[in-house]
Amino acid sequence: MEQKEIVEVARKFSAPYRITDGKKFRLRDVDPNDTAGFKDEDKPRAKEALQMGVDALSQLQEVLYAQDRWSVLLIFQAMDAAGKDGAIKHVMSGINPQGCQVTSFKTPSAEDLDHDFMWRCVRHLPERGRIGVFNRSYYEEVLVVRVHQEILQRQKLPATLVTKRIWEERYEDIGNFERYLTRNGTIVLKFFLNVSKKEQRKRFLERLDKPEKNWKFSQADVAERAHWDDYMHAYEEAIRATAAKHAPWYVVPADNKWFTRIVVAAAIIDQLASLDLSFPKIDAAKRQELEAARAALMQGNGSH
Ligand code: ATP
Ligand code: MG
Repeated sequence: MEQKEIVEVARKFSAPYRITDGKKFRLRDVDPNDTAGFKDEDKPRAKEALQMGVDALSQLQEVLYAQDRWSVLLIFQAMDAAGKDGAIKHVMSGINPQGCQVTSFKTPSAEDLDHDFMWRCVRHLPERGRIGVFNRSYYEEVLVVRVHQEILQRQKLPATLVTKRIWEERYEDIGNFERYLTRNGTIVLKFFLNVSKKEQRKRFLERLDKPEKNWKFSQADVAERAHWDDYMHAYEEAIRATAAKHAPWYVVPADNKWFTRIVVAAAIIDQLASLDLSFPKIDAAKRQELEAARAALMQGNGSH
């Protein structure tokens, strides 16, 4: 397939999952098991499609890097075992490591808590020409912190600032921050890998059953299942409040890993292809410099 065709397919594939206006968004309207009509027996073809997507992405990234104007921030949020790590690993597998950085945000450190909540994330924003991947992000501040409000108590905020409006205020601040980033040339894409509670259970059991997956098992993750509905509510509210044209959410069905990865790759391809990416133009002076260099190298006849 030609690059142009791949971009068209990528657009078609990712558009149904893109949310640019959250007002009408409801999690119950989307199906974690959705595969856009593809069946399990289509999996081998899906693998090929992903490989094509990965190649296309790698070409786009090369130009992004050379042009050195735009940067790309990819945010991954999900419940445990939804496949964040696998999606990041597979989708970014063709990308030049020099042009990409992945940051995982875990429980904040004492130093983090001595600052505003954006602080630790700002320090890891991608440079121009780079792709930055956030494995979890400042969205945890309206997800886990909203579900477990005792975390909020540990944030050392002045008491008068902690009111009932705090979540609304955080959505607003996140929205403003993302607008600010996009106005400075950072493309912001947010992925919610939407796994069902049932599929999560299956994957946890697999972690217990397969020795090579044992290391991934965490009792704490299982305990979090008790708060499933609260998390879903928090995700829904966050997506409704922060989906925007300039910073869309992709709510990606995540019960089938092969499908999740294709949608994620497609979304990134679609967005990168819509930029004015091109290799830097060579001006007359630079061309002369290149010609002079060629002449010098030719004279040396390869021996010096
Ligand atoms: P994996 O389990 O695949 O290694 P993970 O992203 O689940 O990846 P963990 O170390 O298991 O990593 O979990 C990180 C934990 O940190 C999550 O429970 C998450 O909710 C929590 N966390 C992240 N950001 C914040 C935050 N700002 N405040 C409080 N907790 C946070
Ligand atoms: Mg975990």
